Amino acid sequence: METITTLLRKRLSKERGTIKKGWGGKLPVALIYPNYYTLGMSNLGFQAIYGILNDNNKIVAERVFLPEMEELSIYKATKTSLLSLESQMPLTKFHILAFSISFENDYLNMLSILDLSNIPLLSKDRQVGYPLIMAGGATTFMNPEPIADFIDCFLIGEGEVILEKFFDVYMGLQLYELKKQDALEVLARDVSGVYCPSLFHVEYNSQGWISSFEPLLPSLPAKVEVVKNMPFKGPLLRSRIVTPLTEFSDTILVELNRGCGYSCRFCAAGYFYRPPRILEKETLIESLKDILTENIRLGLVSPSISDVPGIEDITSFIIENGGSFSASSMRADSLTEGLVENLKKSGQKTITIAPETGSERLRRVINKKITNEDVINAVILISKMGFFHIKLYIMIGLPTEKREDIKSIVNLVKLIRHNIVKESRQRKRIGRIRLSVNCFIPKPFTPFQWLPMDTIESLKEKQRFLNKALLKEGGVSAGFDIPKWSYIQTLLSVGDRRVGRMLLTTYKNGGNWKQALRSSDVNPDFFVYRDKDINERLPWDFIDNKIKKSFLQEEYKLALSSIESPGCNVGNCTRCGVCN
Ligand code: SF4
Repeated sequence: METITTLLRKRLSKERGTIKKGWGGKLPVALIYPNYYTLGMSNLGFQAIYGILNDNNKIVAERVFLPEMEELSIYKATKTSLLSLESQMPLTKFHILAFSISFENDYLNMLSILDLSNIPLLSKDRQVGYPLIMAGGATTFMNPEPIADFIDCFLIGEGEVILEKFFDVYMGLQLYELKKQDALEVLARDVSGVYCPSLFHVEYNSQGWISSFEPLLPSLPAKVEVVKNMPFKGPLLRSRIVTPLTEFSDTILVELNRGCGYSCRFCAAGYFYRPPRILEKETLIESLKDILTENIRLGLVSPSISDVPGIEDITSFIIENGGSFSASSMRADSLTEGLVENLKKSGQKTITIAPETGSERLRRVINKKITNEDVINAVILISKMGFFHIKLYIMIGLPTEKREDIKSIVNLVKLIRHNIVKESRQRKRIGRIRLSVNCFIPKPFTPFQWLPMDTIESLKEKQRFLNKALLKEGGVSAGFDIPKWSYIQTLLSVGDRRVGRMLLTTYKNGGNWKQALRSSDVNPDFFVYRDKDINERLPWDFIDNKIKKSFLQEEYKLALSSIESPGCNVGNCTRCGVCN
């Protein structure tokens, strides 16, 4: 049997760009992705934070991942405590464990990692002699409460701006050898964006709503301000390490812009990362020049790459300089010939667009601001330009959804298929259509934050209907979310500290959610299936990201009346409050 150290070293030997630093005189930080290596290394946020931490010469940051099956059995058989990747050091040797969490479904993995490191799971049980446990990342920005009991402090905001101040203050505090609670108090008081759950007290009323959420000390602010990179300037967030062992093999991921101005009402990224921030085309090209000298394959990251100003010139620049790129989903109404041509030259075989539904009415509810005609025009353009498969992002269980809205998905797919076949007549091969059918999950800080999730039974029935109808179409396949996992994701997205207790019981039950939810003193349906009162205090209301609640309430009402609203017009708009 191989040893853990050998396995980790093998993994390291496949990487380019690994940062190896001596520990002498530096603050050791374990940067943890609570899932497997292949997923963590495909995550731009995780990769970027690794680079930012190590750019600080007073810090040594090493990566930690959830062990895969083979590794886990060795850890267990040899009773070895979980090790970091770079120097194979146990996590208890680090001063800080920093979790980077992008998905709620990784919360259980976070507990496994603490357990495998022999570190008590609950913050209150780690007063002396343990590393400080921090967390940041997309899910914790929106609602950290379901994991509040496990984490000592959250960093709520964008890493490139919040980390520097945090570590300045933290390193200053080390000189005084303060107790953990005293150190947390200083951090929460002096560093914007730091949230220490143990310094806040929550009460619930007889209906189960939060009746009060207050800091325990008068010196602490009642609201935690989200720290954002404003005004937005380079350098671009990018991955530092390339390896063949990831989803985006041997590719450097590069952020092209942040936030999205279209204001789709279901989309957390479109609200939380407000205002949308873009860089000049010339600035982007200048930054890409340096990256292209290191690696020729780039993964361009943007909420919608087709909306990046100058994207045709930017992608042409990459290709003219011997590079290639891949890109995620595009908006159907902003796709251009030039961009599709460059995707073809880069060897991309599949183009992804996100109609979300086939129903024009439902698109007004979600404020998607595209039509079926836009989708078909995009498909015609793609099919004329060459051989491509088309991937479609579809959502079911959307607010106000009716049977005819589900049928409209099938009609749209038929129309797309018809146009692909028509435009591909001159070619021998015809591209396939792949649907990714996701369940709607209400997200904090969106106009849909008050709405329930559709029931598991209803979602299953809609999936059966779609599957049966789509099976009849040649060249079409579909993948579906598992509704019971969407239920858990909703619980972890919009729950409060009481959901943390369910999470702990589930962990102790070996991951058995069903049993844990059955034994909970609070019915989980209270969080998942309840239409929340528009005036009730929500678990994430203590986070101040500058979006006015009155704006979200207005958007919620417009949605229920199927009325669209305009997207961002940065510089000329004061609607949501973020740019004021
Ligand atoms: S104030 Fe207007 S432009 Fe600024 S983020 Fe809000 S909606 Fe967008």
